[in-house]
Amino acid sequence: MKPAPFIYHDPRSIEDVVGLLGQHENARVLAGGQSLMPMLNFRYVMPDHLIDLNRVPGLSGIADAGDMLRIGAMTRQRDLEFSDIVAARCPVLRAALLKVGHRQTRNRGTIGGSLCHLDPLAEQVAAVALLGGTLHMRGPGGERSVPFAEFGLGFMTTALAPDEVLTAIDLPLWPANHGWSWQEYARRHGDFAIAGAGALLTLNAAGRIDRAALVIAGLGAVPVRLEAGERMLLNEAPSEALFTAIAAEAEALEAMADAYVTAEYRQHLAGVLCRRALREAAIRAKEGSLAHV
Ligand code: FAD
Repeated sequence: MKPAPFIYHDPRSIEDVVGLLGQHENARVLAGGQSLMPMLNFRYVMPDHLIDLNRVPGLSGIADAGDMLRIGAMTRQRDLEFSDIVAARCPVLRAALLKVGHRQTRNRGTIGGSLCHLDPLAEQVAAVALLGGTLHMRGPGGERSVPFAEFGLGFMTTALAPDEVLTAIDLPLWPANHGWSWQEYARRHGDFAIAGAGALLTLNAAGRIDRAALVIAGLGAVPVRLEAGERMLLNEAPSEALFTAIAAEAEALEAMADAYVTAEYRQHLAGVLCRRALREAAIRAKEGSLAHV
């Protein structure tokens, strides 16, 4: 099928984008098109106006701001994948990115598009949730920023207003010696995963966990931070018994069923992936090295 008719706009500044979004009610912005174009072709979405971000300056780039990475919304997934800063300072993002689609889709797809599309199993969305990212948006009322926890509102539904555009994402960085892991299960390479788990850990001098972040993706509409599990990890030494107890927290999460798997299977998978992620992150934290992906 082909898209329903729309008027194409090719703005050259963020001010023009905001102006167009303010003028036209049923409008969508186009980033890499790797989700929007299929949605248009299947007529899942039928905007009257398509506003192309691809020639708007200032929306892409990766900057190391010391304790955080500032990533432009239009930064291509492939640029993140090949970024030395991301590999050195935020390896879990790169590990998750390598699971996104195919190199061809990553050449065009952007991190902002993935966040705004908000597929429940989008790896970049899960990584931003894990890292506790902040999203910056621009609309007629100016700029505003929301933590990821307030951005994903439900199934493919974000806090973005219809007349707003996502401009950048800030990702807090962990210490150089942190342990990290991204684990997922997909039926084929390039498929969206069925479930995913990400973990970040640091150990104190006594070898006990003094900071932890855990995310489970794919059970609900938006990736969830396993806060109870994070609290259970603190001041404990990494161990299989501990990881098994925390995996039980992941298995207890409410899960959706779909044409592929039952909710029970997804819950079981979440427990398995959570344990694997904790195990790998603990090994890396013990090594104190940032083994590149
Ligand atoms: P687009 O498709 O251009 O836009 C997506 C949506 O976000 C649209 O509604 C658009 O209006 C909105 N939007 C985009 N940018 C902004 C912005 N700056 N401000 C406001 N709204 C915005 N993704 C995964 O995570 N994992 C996978 O395994 C995976 N596999 C894939 C396999 C294939 C074959 C394909 C084609 C895609 C796959 N994807 C996967 C999706 C891919 O990562 C997309 O790139 C991503 O979902 C959307 O990014 P985009 O830049 O292409 O956005």
